[in-house]
Amino acid sequence: MSEATEAAETRDGMWQCVCGNGWWNKNARSTCEGCGRWKCSRCQKINEVDVEECAKCKCWKCSRCQKINEVDVEECAKCGETRTMWRCLDCKRFNDQYAISCEGCERWRCPLCLHINEVDAGECAGDGCGCPKDAEPEG
Ligand SMILES: [Zn+2]
Ligand SMILES: [Zn+2]
Ligand SMILES: [Zn+2]
Ligand SMILES: [Zn+2]
Ligand SMILES: [Zn+2]
Repeated sequence: MSEATEAAETRDGMWQCVCGNGWWNKNARSTCEGCGRWKCSRCQKINEVDVEECAKCKCWKCSRCQKINEVDVEECAKCGETRTMWRCLDCKRFNDQYAISCEGCERWRCPLCLHINEVDAGECAGDGCGCPKDAEPEG
C-alpha cells in the first residue's frame, strides 16, 4: 500500500504521473491535469492532490501559483504568497492551516491572534488576547 509514494517517471524533460495520464513538461507543469496530483520538483515524488507538503522531502507547493518552494521558506519565491501551513516556533514543525495543535509538540496556536501557546495553557497568552483554546476563528 505504499504505492502512493511513487516517484514520477521522467524522460526528455517530461514526466508522467502515477495515474498514467499523459506526459507533462517538467518546466511548465508540476500538477497532473488528469488527476490533480503534483510532482515535487526536487525529489520527483508524486504527491496527493490535497497535500501542500511533499511527503518525502517536505518542500511545499504554493497554493496560488503552484511553485514548489524549499522547506525553510515561508513565502513563495515566485508570487510571494505566504505558506498556508503554520510553523511551530518551538519544534519547527509545519502544521496544517486548520490544525490548532502542533503535531510535533502539542503546543497550540491561538485561532484569533496566532500566538503559539504552551500545551497546558487554557487561555491564549498573546498580547491582550486571552481567548480560550477552543475559540472559533472569526470570519
Ligand atoms: Zn495524475
Ligand atoms: Zn519532494
Ligand atoms: Zn506562489
Ligand atoms: Zn511544536
Ligand atoms: Zn490569542
